[in-house]
Amino acid sequence: MYKILILTFLSSLLFHVGCSQSNQVATTKVEETSQKPGPAVEKIEKTEEEWRAQLSETEFYILREKGTERSFTGKYWDNKKDGIYFCSGCNLSLFDAETKFKSGTGWPSFYQPIAKGHVIEYTDSSHGMARTEVVCGRCDGHLGHVFNDGPNPTGLRYCINGNILQFKEK
Ligand SMILES: [Zn+2]
Repeated sequence: MYKILILTFLSSLLFHVGCSQSNQVATTKVEETSQKPGPAVEKIEKTEEEWRAQLSETEFYILREKGTERSFTGKYWDNKKDGIYFCSGCNLSLFDAETKFKSGTGWPSFYQPIAKGHVIEYTDSSHGMARTEVVCGRCDGHLGHVFNDGPNPTGLRYCINGNILQFKEK
C-alpha cells in the first residue's frame, strides 16, 4: 500500500512537471540528471579467450570487435515492451525502455542511457566518418554510436546493436 502511494505521488509529480514547466526547465533537469555521478561502476576485464568462451559469435563480433549487425535483423529494434535493457557481456543496466523511441533505422534507439557511467562515449574516426562510439561502462564492450539527431528531451540518438542487449520486462 505504501509503495502504491509513493508511485501515485511520483506519477502526479511527473505529470505536474511535464505539464507546467517550460522546455528550458525540463532540459536543465535532464542535464542535471545525466551529470549526476551515479554509484561507481566497477570495471570487468577479461582476456580475448575468456570473452570468446562466454559470448556467442555474434556478441563477440559486436562487443569485442566493434562489429555492427545489419539493420532490422537484430533483437529488440521493434520491441515496445516496458523494461530494462542490459549488456550481454556483463549484465550492467544500460537503457530504460521509457527512453526508447521509433527511429526507423532498424536498430534499437534510445535518447538517454539509464545512468551516468553505464554508457561511455569515445570519438570514432574509423570508416572515414567522425562518429561517437558508445561502450559499456563496465566491460568496455562496443554497443553502437550516438548521434545528435534524436528527439527531445536530449536531442540524442543512441543507436545500439540489439544482439548485445538483454531485455528484462518490468
Ligand atoms: Zn558490459
